[in-house]
Amino acid sequence: MTRVGLPHAAGEAKSPNERWDTVVIGAGVFGAWTAWNLRRRHQRVLLIDAWGPGNARASSGGESRMTRTAYGPDEVYTRMAFESLADWRWLSARSGLPIFHPVGVLFFFSRLEPYVTQTLDVHRRLGIPIQELQKGELARRFPQFSWDGIELGLYEPELGALMARRAVQTLVKEFVAAGGEYRVAAAAPAAAGMAAPADSGARLDTLALSDGTQVSAGNFVFACGPWLPKLFPEVLGARIFVTRQEVFFFSPPAGDARFQPGAMPGWADFNGGDIYYGFPDLEARGVKVAHDGHGALMDPDQGDREFSGPALEEVRAFMRRRLPSLAQRALNEARVCQYENSSNGDFLIDRHPALSNVVLLGAGSGHGFKHGPAVGRYTAQLVLGELRAREPRFALATKADTQHRAVH
Ligand SMILES: Cc1cc2nc3c(=O)[nH]c(=O)nc-3n(C[C@H](O)[C@H](O)[C@H](O)COP(=O)(O)OP(=O)(O)OC[C@H]3O[C@@H](n4cnc5c(N)ncnc54)[C@H](O)[C@@H]3O)c2cc1C
Repeated sequence: MTRVGLPHAAGEAKSPNERWDTVVIGAGVFGAWTAWNLRRRHQRVLLIDAWGPGNARASSGGESRMTRTAYGPDEVYTRMAFESLADWRWLSARSGLPIFHPVGVLFFFSRLEPYVTQTLDVHRRLGIPIQELQKGELARRFPQFSWDGIELGLYEPELGALMARRAVQTLVKEFVAAGGEYRVAAAAPAAAGMAAPADSGARLDTLALSDGTQVSAGNFVFACGPWLPKLFPEVLGARIFVTRQEVFFFSPPAGDARFQPGAMPGWADFNGGDIYYGFPDLEARGVKVAHDGHGALMDPDQGDREFSGPALEEVRAFMRRRLPSLAQRALNEARVCQYENSSNGDFLIDRHPALSNVVLLGAGSGHGFKHGPAVGRYTAQLVLGELRAREPRFALATKADTQHRAVH
């Protein structure tokens, strides 16, 4: 068990038989916001991560993530994205560099999809602002796109981009400054007690770490993203689908201000449900363009991180259609990450079926980052037994073993 970088909280236990109120395993966006919320409730919290917050193999380790409230009929995600914004603004203000870039988000459609009317209904009901823009207005305001075949867009001027790795690393520093403890350590996959029979009332008292030491706690939250199926093969092996996802950053034409933040928003082309999305030239890294469709299954430990020619060609073909002045621009950078999908795209936030003090947290399903603050609050309340109402969509029982993506 190695401690790195961050200072220890004064007065926290460090003996070989440490006992914590809660140990959170995994310092991605879900685990970090959960640890932060528990610490704010004066819990003695240990947060561990095998490689570090927002590491290169984690799903939270990317450069940028979109935050939007447009979610079609899925009001629960509209609400959580909106409720998370104040925390993102707070974290951004705490950091020396921006974490939230409010560049606006534009979602556009070839026709009046049910997704559009459902999004507008939900926003009206919740009183959340969103603008409907017709084709002429899109063409006037956003000349960097070709608007062929597009009928309308939904524009959220106050939303935008979250700088993912920076966000998670800043939050873990805030957690430590608030008295939490963070360490680099890995929970051993065959941790004792995890194979207890369902509903046996068993508890996990002690967690074995990969270096042979142990930690004990009243509660454990496993927020291990795409590693969850490996840690809990019997419970989650067939219920979380880890897919390879490639994102590309292109150099905009020299001196072309159309691709700068402020001129170009974060955007998504609904494309009949087969979404492409991207960002302007944030922090001069290049214009991001990616296909949201699920790639091949991938192992987060072994899967290589080299981009593939076909995926690049797919994105260039999209750009020839939608962003013609970028289509032949040089590639600045490419990244390979993974989505950890539930069967339909709903998150998993529930107790382990056999271990009553273990919470399973994950299945961000390619859209989880923006919801980190709300997910952290919900999970902390679940741990503390303070949830007024459980969200049925986050229950383990709703996680099927065949994929039918429903959340976009
Ligand atoms: C390419 C891409 C684009 C995306 N775009 C968006 C977007 O635009 N908007 C959006 O909202 N979401 C987006 N997402 C989804 C979002 O990034 C994820 O849902 C979210 O980051 C998942 O966070 P997590 O904390 O569950 O998992 P992770 O970030 O993977 O964190 C899990 C952590 O657990 C640690 N861990 C694993 N095993 C162990 C162990 N045994 N012991 C200790 N630690 C362990 C890992 O090191 C890791 O740090 C995108 C994802 C990808 C890959």
